[in-house]
Formats: sequence, C-alpha cells, structure tokens
Amino acid sequence: MSAKKKLEFNRKQKLLKRRQQKLTSYYKNRSKTNTEYTYTITKEATKKREYRAKKAGKKEKENTRKRNYRQAMKSKHITQNTLEDRDIFKNVFNNRTTKHRAIKRLKNALPRTPKRRSATLAAYLQHTKSPAVEILRQAEVVSSPEDLMNMSIEKAALEDIKTAIESCKTKRSKDSFLSMNVLVASISGEKITETRCRKNLAKKLGLPVRRLSRGNRNRTTILKSEKSCWAYVCRKTRKDALSEETKRLAYNFWMKPGISRPTDVTLCNKEDQVHKIACLKRDCGECGVNKLELLTEETDDLDTAQIVKWEKFEKVDIKVKGNKTIKKLVLVKKETKAVELFSHFLELLKSFPLHQHRATWQKQTIPNITY
Ligand SMILES: [Zn+2]
Repeated sequence: MSAKKKLEFNRKQKLLKRRQQKLTSYYKNRSKTNTEYTYTITKEATKKREYRAKKAGKKEKENTRKRNYRQAMKSKHITQNTLEDRDIFKNVFNNRTTKHRAIKRLKNALPRTPKRRSATLAAYLQHTKSPAVEILRQAEVVSSPEDLMNMSIEKAALEDIKTAIESCKTKRSKDSFLSMNVLVASISGEKITETRCRKNLAKKLGLPVRRLSRGNRNRTTILKSEKSCWAYVCRKTRKDALSEETKRLAYNFWMKPGISRPTDVTLCNKEDQVHKIACLKRDCGECGVNKLELLTEETDDLDTAQIVKWEKFEKVDIKVKGNKTIKKLVLVKKETKAVELFSHFLELLKSFPLHQHRATWQKQTIPNITY
C-alpha cells in the first residue's frame, strides 16, 4: 500500500468511526426532548463544551494524583529515591520512550484482571534459575527466601530488644542503668549511622534519638579504648575537665600521711563518724573557713606580691553546630597574685563540706533504694 493510499484509508476509517459515534449518541438521546437542554445545542457549542469538560476532568484527576502521591511520600519519609537511581538499572534503555514502550508491551502481554496479572508475575518471580529474577533479587526489588527469613529474624530480635529496654528503662538501680547503656550501645553502631536509619530505629524502640546517639558515642569512643565499655558507662566521667595525671596527683597528695585536710581543719570534730550538720552548713560558731591558717605570702595583696599561675573551672560559652552556644565547664588559666587564688579557694571551701557530705550520702544510698 502506498503512502497516499494509506493516508486516505486512515481518513476514511476515522470518518466511519465518528459517524458510528454520532449514531449511537442519537439513538441514546432520541427520547429526550429539546426542552431538557438549557445550553445552546449547536454542533459547535456542544463540541466546545465537551472539549472543555474533558480537559477540566483530566486536569482535576492529574492534580489529585499528584497530591496523593506527595502525601504518601511525606508520610512514609521516603525521598524520591526510585529504581532509576539504582546503578544496575541505569542506562539500560536508550531513552524514556523506549522504556515506556517496553512497559506498555509487558502490560499488554499480561492477562487483563489484576488477580491474574499478579499471579502470573508472582509465578515468574519464583523462577530461581531466571537471570532476570536473579538481578531483581540482587537489587532488592524482590525478596529472596533468605531475605524473607532474615527479615523475620530481624523483626523478632528487634522485638526482644524492645522488651528488654522497656523493662530496664523504668528502673533506677545501678544494674539496670548499666544494662540499659550496654543495650543501647550495642544496637547503635556504624551500620546504623551508615544507613541513616537511627531516627526510624529510635521510633521502633520507643526511645529518643539522642539516647541512641549517646549509645553510638559510647560505642565508638569507648569500645576502641583500653577501658571496656562497661567500666565507662557505670559512671559519667568528666574527661573533658581533668586528665588522669592531674587526678592521680591530687589523689596522691591528699592520701599522704600527715596531710591535714582543709575540710577537717575548718570543721569541728566528727561525732558518730560524721560532722554536725550545723558545721557542714557553716552555721557553727566554733568552726569555719577562718580556722584555716594561711601564710603571709598567701594573703599578701601588695604590688610586690608574687604572681602565681593557676587554673579554675569556669562556665564558658562554646559555639556548637547549628549556630548555637552552650555553656561548658572548662579549666581557665589564671595568672594573678597568690591572694586571689587563696580567696577563691576559701570561697570554695565554704560550700564544699556540705556538697561532699551530700554526694557521699547519695552515692551510698541511691543504688540501694528498692521500689
Ligand atoms: Zn563546728
């Protein structure tokens, strides 16, 4: 058939189709009288009206579809990371049209009803020997039997961890605090960070995200150090503030025989192995910080006084991520007359005995509280 004849044939076909449509429409609406119509019913007007209605309907439908899609994505927290992004399926087709045609061919080849379609596809995807199915499994588009098994194991494990956490979370004993830390540290590692699913995991376990992040920090910093994770989590140490050496130096100094403790010097003698509460609160008339005798070099405020280097803890504003500032306790270097150091020391000594007494008491008592 030549091109010209083909064109004529097509035109004729179109005309016939249109005539058929008109006829059906005529028979369908034959019983209606003209009074039922309020619109102009000229051929042109009807045609235009139909066209407009069709266009509006199409637009509305498309808008609804887009809106629904966006909402679904939002609720699922899915970024539009579709199959196209997977390397394995990249550049398989030359262009989108070829791909579209291929999909269309597949659709046409499949049975009509959704049930039969899905049954056919499911049966096809169970073909373990098919290379295409193998690729799909590798790309995790469909799950292999092993994947399904793993998934059920993971689900069960997660449930069990959740139960364990639930029971530890509410208890305040030292043991449950420890096991809680170990639990959290064990499920929050490099893989979770890598796959960026910490938020979802936290939601699944019913924990705040910050809790998991802390677990991760414990794990990454402590598991790699010589001290074990267990030793670290049992007590939060201020490793930012004091080095091990400084701590040891201070400890050795105060444990030396013959050292009179400034706390003991400025308090009355103990009764029943504890100081009187009035002394601790510095309400006692018999004792006080003025009982601590200082040397003249330590109280000298003259211009000739010796300058000493010392450090003191101060709360300092520190800039962190996200343009925020936080207060952090840091050692600040000072270079002043000795008198300034000692007046600061006396100031601390005023409140220290009560603070220490309270801390010791809490440390002894709190872990032994039972509900
Ligand atoms: Zn006293």
